Amino acid sequence: MNSNDVRPGVPRLLVVRAILGSRTLSEAMSHCLIPQRASSYNNVIADGSGEVYSMEGSATDCEALYIADDVMAHANHYVAPSMRRFELDRSSIAGSIIRHNRADYLLRQNYGKLTAELFRSLLADHAGYPTSICKHGTGSVTVFSIIIQLEQLRAWIGRGHVCETEFVEYQLEPYQNDGNKYA
Ligand SMILES: [Zn+2]
Repeated sequence: MNSNDVRPGVPRLLVVRAILGSRTLSEAMSHCLIPQRASSYNNVIADGSGEVYSMEGSATDCEALYIADDVMAHANHYVAPSMRRFELDRSSIAGSIIRHNRADYLLRQNYGKLTAELFRSLLADHAGYPTSICKHGTGSVTVFSIIIQLEQLRAWIGRGHVCETEFVEYQLEPYQNDGNKYA
């Protein structure tokens, strides 16, 4: 997301590093909300119990979108009504709106049978090409994709266009000290 309130402060990449080092969901959420941030990604945070939040943030505000109906999709524009005023250019988000709705549709259509393998094919979707979920646009393209299975702490990562890439599987390490898991 590109917001209109970017300012000097903690770079969002460093905020992400802090999120990844969190031991609990609330700790991760607190990092998303750090008041000194310069800007924000849409940070999706979750734990092994099925709690999922899409932390739709800018430098000066944030909306914690909670997963509804076990399904959540997000693309590259602000969705929360309270955050729309921070969109840098609302005339440039058509492709993102189409990706968002397409992803939501695909998740609901395939609810109950979602596997890592099926996610690979959904991420390669070309509806709305070239600004599709597997994005071949002129201004920006898909550079990587990641699928995470939180209960088993497994991840699959693919570089470049999903329709052309090979996903590599990784086994993630749980924290040993308190048993809480997050991603
Ligand atoms: Zn493609």
